Amino acid sequence: MIKKKNRGTLVVISGPSGVGKGTICNELKKIRKHFWLSISATSRKPRKGEVDGENYFFISKEEFEERIKNNDFLEYAIVHNNDYYGTPKKEIETHLNSGDDVILEIDIEGALKIKEKYPETLFIFILPPSMDKLIDRLIKRGTESKEKIVKRFRKAYNEINEVTKYNYVVVNDNLEKAVNKVNSIMTAERCRVDRIEEILLNNKEENIHELLVEKDLENKMFELKED
Ligand code: ADP
Ligand code: 5GP
Repeated sequence: MIKKKNRGTLVVISGPSGVGKGTICNELKKIRKHFWLSISATSRKPRKGEVDGENYFFISKEEFEERIKNNDFLEYAIVHNNDYYGTPKKEIETHLNSGDDVILEIDIEGALKIKEKYPETLFIFILPPSMDKLIDRLIKRGTESKEKIVKRFRKAYNEINEVTKYNYVVVNDNLEKAVNKVNSIMTAERCRVDRIEEILLNNKEENIHELLVEKDLENKMFELKED
């Protein structure tokens, strides 16, 4: 009865380093279809176990700067003071036009740039259950030096203040619950009234509608009641 716009939703997921953004997005793949997780490019070195073209496109600083000049990025930022991270433009439009949602897992600076260009984007912020648990996760992940952990943890305090710029907030305490919440938010977005392109009525429904418009409905109901 309704025809919805076929374009997918652009979804930005942000939150402090170590909060579980990557883990949530990976879990989401198991329960949700029709979305594409954008793969960012970065000049940071791969961590143990990270695969080029899967976690990120790992490129040199020089190549990153060349690609900035070529206007290859939807947005980019220097994160944690030294490394470039950017969202490649190519493929995002293709996926959105095909009807798939596209998730960008990017930092707050990048999210704000996206907000300027695409105000209709869905912004989800992931919070840790506590700062203690956040530092635990950063330490347990074991991917950063002590110095980098301290930097990321400090930055987390500033990032959390930006939560009000987002549409939704999800606390990642229990992983399954957090994943279900993100999934539900994305489903709710697809049900928004402003996604309706057209209301379609078949012939029979058109006839009923005309009948209701043309005849004096109140009189008709009154007659029926009298009978
Ligand atoms: P981010 O992508 O936000 O930097 P990760 O997804 O790499 O964070 O998660 C950081 C660490 O926290 C990982 O070791 C991950 O297994 C762990 N983690 C993620 N979510 C939870 C959770 N709900 N409970 C406990 N540990 C979690
Ligand atoms: P990490 O080094 O832990 O993988 O990521 C560090 C930070 O960079 C995270 O906050 C992550 O969200 C952010 N990030 C990853 N990709 C992009 C991107 O394409 N653009 C921006 N602006 N930030 C990104």
